[in-house]
Amino acid sequence: MGKHQFQTEIGQLLHLMTHSLYSHKEIFLRELISNASDAIDKFNYLHLTDEKFKEEAWSGKINVKIDKEDGSLTIGDNGIGMNEEDLMENLGTIAKSGTKAFLEQLSGDAKKDSNLIGQFGVGFYSVFMVADRVDVITKKAGEEQAYKFSTDGKGEYEIKPVVKEAHGTVVYIKFKEDEKEFLDKWRVEEVIKKYSDHIAYPIFLNYEATEYEGEGEDRKEKKVWKTEQVNSAKALWTIPKSELKKEDYIEFYKTIAHDSEEPLTYLHNQVEGTLSYTTLFYIPRTAPMDMYRADYQPGVKLYVKRVFITDDDKELLPPYLRFIRGIIDSEDLPLNVSREILQENRILANIRQHSVKKILEAIKKLEGEDFDRFVSQYNRVIKEGIYTDFTNKETLLEIVRYKSSEKEGMVSFEEYISRADSEKKEIYYIIGEDEKVLRNSPLLEAYKKAGIEVLIMDDYEVDSIVTPMIGSYKEWTLKDITTIDAPESKTEEEKKALEEKYKPLVERLKKVLGDAIKEVKISTRLTESPSCVVKDSSDPMASMAAMFAQMGQEAPEIPLILEINPEHEVIAKLSEVKEDKLFEDMAWVLLDSAKVAEGMEPKESAAFAKRIAALAAKAL
Ligand code: ADP
Repeated sequence: MGKHQFQTEIGQLLHLMTHSLYSHKEIFLRELISNASDAIDKFNYLHLTDEKFKEEAWSGKINVKIDKEDGSLTIGDNGIGMNEEDLMENLGTIAKSGTKAFLEQLSGDAKKDSNLIGQFGVGFYSVFMVADRVDVITKKAGEEQAYKFSTDGKGEYEIKPVVKEAHGTVVYIKFKEDEKEFLDKWRVEEVIKKYSDHIAYPIFLNYEATEYEGEGEDRKEKKVWKTEQVNSAKALWTIPKSELKKEDYIEFYKTIAHDSEEPLTYLHNQVEGTLSYTTLFYIPRTAPMDMYRADYQPGVKLYVKRVFITDDDKELLPPYLRFIRGIIDSEDLPLNVSREILQENRILANIRQHSVKKILEAIKKLEGEDFDRFVSQYNRVIKEGIYTDFTNKETLLEIVRYKSSEKEGMVSFEEYISRADSEKKEIYYIIGEDEKVLRNSPLLEAYKKAGIEVLIMDDYEVDSIVTPMIGSYKEWTLKDITTIDAPESKTEEEKKALEEKYKPLVERLKKVLGDAIKEVKISTRLTESPSCVVKDSSDPMASMAAMFAQMGQEAPEIPLILEINPEHEVIAKLSEVKEDKLFEDMAWVLLDSAKVAEGMEPKESAAFAKRIAALAAKAL
């Protein structure tokens, strides 16, 4: 009890809110009503399953009261409530990774940051866009003591014991001088209708109206308090699809996802049969900020017969679909399912399987800009799916996109094969860290010359793990061009002859370069460059290096193979060089410049520069 300092991050958040330029400040109402609804959801579950609460005559509701004279708005719920510890933990500190991710994205530019508020919906604290002071009076169900949490949003809060009859929470908002629009009944009603029409509990608006009594001279003005229910209070997903409009779906999305953008798409399935359930899923237009955090907040809520069960189960959908927002409501699960049971539940497994299929279908149906947007946000998690979801691999391979040597933008495997040699049925790719380096790789030269398309995979950490295990798409085999002979290369005899001819040169290079390379080979894939390096993918070190990279650790070095271009003038002339120093310099330059072309570091930069200078001096 007493005064407390907000956690630093919250201080930061509060500062941002109080100075926000965000133009849709109304979302504070959406956020607080959504909190109230969640709290009622939680108590509703206890009411139905816990002996202690079963007797209570209760039905969930939310009260919004406008007090014009006082310049305040209160939002009350009869939900689960909070005790002192909950208050400190939930409102005094930031536990959620989503909020942390939000803070990390802040730029310090007030305008940009204000827009992020809308995109993310920062929950309770959004109230400080409009409030001077906030009191949260709350009592936790099953406990005796109630508490009041007060703050002016300037870094400190205070908790005091108070008296409150029923469990639940009342949030009292004292508006800033210039933020009085939410004292207007019509305005508040409009906002509630817009965002909260389809939350499952009734929202009552209490306001003071002016009434007149008597006639003519005797007519008297009288203030009376009125109460009106302002929402339809029917969980959106339970309403038949035919009765819902696109706007209904979109506003409901904004409330459950705390997002101001419209979703990319949504899918609503009401299934009746051996299993009966309803699912409503949304794909956000912008990927959730915590998508790549291990402690991400799952976006799907589980209900059983309209009763909220959990919003914290990461297994309702496979992890790669963690960007999906929505609900699953099952008619067949028992109300008191425990978490452990959920994990292995056949009913849920069945719903999950169907849901994944439906979601992937919906993604495939996205068109034009919407599909491009999807790719820009979610291509990487789709690759994760390819790696983990064997059942849906084919569909995921139809969705995933890659860069290509053929054109700007992203291409699908389908598009690739429509252009490629249908006799050979091979899909070529190259993986690396940097798109530019890959596009200029000497390894691509022969493919460019032969007019063969190569997929450019520059998401190294993911691609180096996922692509090798794709194996094939339809009957087409995927081939890493760093591990195969180039197209239109020499016949076996021609190769043999070249190897014979350059044997002395190869031996001499090996001797000079020693441990720096695993091997020197006559290349069949170069046209313009004198040399290139390839990583020996058959080497066990290669897969180990990929594993290390995936774990974010420094990878061990993979042995390199130096390939020389027998067609290149430099190589032909190098065979003739007698002087040892000149030969050595040239040998190292061949290796180091090939490494640089692949985006690697030369063995020693200073030595590399010195050798180039020495060679240049000779040439000039
Ligand atoms: P979010 O709602 O996204 O979790 P908030 O910052 O809005 O984030 O709220 C933080 C937490 O405070 C909630 O998760 C909830 O545990 C608690 N809380 C907020 N409002 C209420 C309420 N009306 N009744 C009970 N608990 C609440």
